[in-house]
Amino acid sequence: MAITLHLCRIPTRPDLYLQGSLAGPGAARPRRALSVRCSGDPSSAAVSADGDFDAKVFRHNLTRSKNYNRKGFGYKDETLQLINREHTSDVIKTLKENGNVYAWGNVTVKLAEAYGFCWGAERAVQIAYEARKQFPEEKIWITNEIIHNPTVNKRLEEMEVENIPLEEGQKQFDIVNKGDVVILPAFGAAMNEMLTLSERNVQIVDTTCPWVSKVWNTVEKHKKGDYTSIIHGKYSHEETVATASFAGKYIIAKNMKEAAYVCDYILGGELDGSSSTKEAFLEKFKYAVSPGFDPDNDLIKVGMANQTTMLKGETEEIGKLVERTMMRKYGVENVNQHFISFNTICDATQERQDAMYKLVEEKVDLMLVVGGWNSSNTSHLQEIAEERGIPSYWIDSEQRIGPGNRIAYKLNHGELVEKENWLPEGPLTIGVTSGASTPDKVVEDALVKVFDIKREEALQLA
Ligand code: SF4
Repeated sequence: MAITLHLCRIPTRPDLYLQGSLAGPGAARPRRALSVRCSGDPSSAAVSADGDFDAKVFRHNLTRSKNYNRKGFGYKDETLQLINREHTSDVIKTLKENGNVYAWGNVTVKLAEAYGFCWGAERAVQIAYEARKQFPEEKIWITNEIIHNPTVNKRLEEMEVENIPLEEGQKQFDIVNKGDVVILPAFGAAMNEMLTLSERNVQIVDTTCPWVSKVWNTVEKHKKGDYTSIIHGKYSHEETVATASFAGKYIIAKNMKEAAYVCDYILGGELDGSSSTKEAFLEKFKYAVSPGFDPDNDLIKVGMANQTTMLKGETEEIGKLVERTMMRKYGVENVNQHFISFNTICDATQERQDAMYKLVEEKVDLMLVVGGWNSSNTSHLQEIAEERGIPSYWIDSEQRIGPGNRIAYKLNHGELVEKENWLPEGPLTIGVTSGASTPDKVVEDALVKVFDIKREEALQLA
């Protein structure tokens, strides 16, 4: 279904969304009180008397309310020590001490220069650990996986951090009671979820990565300037769902092909002829546009935004294509009235992708890519290896390896493949990388399985 806001309850905490409650010299002029339009229409939204819901003001005020925390509770050192104990790896340590290349028996491992846990993921996990320590007796919920890693998520389950239950795809927030604690994951949460939680008067522990918040600020700027946000992302990814919820008008393009289709439509079919009628356009993007989107009226002023974990090069290329399209349509001298762009590409994603581009230039027999199967940034690392024609195996944990010389892995496009004898006989060089949500220990566990298979092989040949 299309991404829409579902706001059919009347928020009961006007302090959170009335601009008049902003303090200080930078405070904007007071606005009139908000009313709420509640119809059967799933796109019903909180609106002001002048027809406007100010998501930025809501967020601003929520982050300053007493039931909200996004900085942890003062246990940073001890929770980081715990995370290190649970998630670091001697194998990775050895690799790092040896210039990212090391041989165990006849297996040489080449580790990407940048890999694994990004600071945003580590920060989110650490704040979640702090929340458990701060609220030892309270019920703690989480609105989604904290990060896309099964090992970390299982650990939080053991700590009795529970997922909000789903019923027919809808989160059942009714289960959350006043006094409970609710963690928002690293990818953030959609505005309607934040509104619901603020109504329920729960303690919110927000681990949203600041890079993600930066994108939200960007789409809010688009909205303010009456620009439609073109979001390079996947419409069903939690981060993009959240970003879209803070945007005004938006369209989500998952790759260059979709972006070219949009640009071709803007140019009346003169880019590459890939687009056709308005009806076909709306059918193609039916899950990926804001309610009431009209491509004839809503693509006159556009701004770029992105899911932080998409391929950096592709985000840049899409931005350039859209800019050129607006120049062609409206003239170079007028482009600033029709196109805006801010750099919101996350450094961590960029570094991991750059390191992977370097690693695929090295001589390796195969690539092992470790990261959650629902991790977008890991899928792009796998994509880079596949594009180079290198045998590449994307696994989410060591349990995908075995029994014996067998592996179950995913391809970039999500296909699950099982393969016997995936490790060739004899000396082997393996390139290794891991997604931004992957602790080193998960990579170590996978490599240890590889070493075991090769050791077994050597014993049989001896
Ligand atoms: S990949 Fe980037 S945006 Fe995502 S959590 Fe890590 S630092 Fe934040």
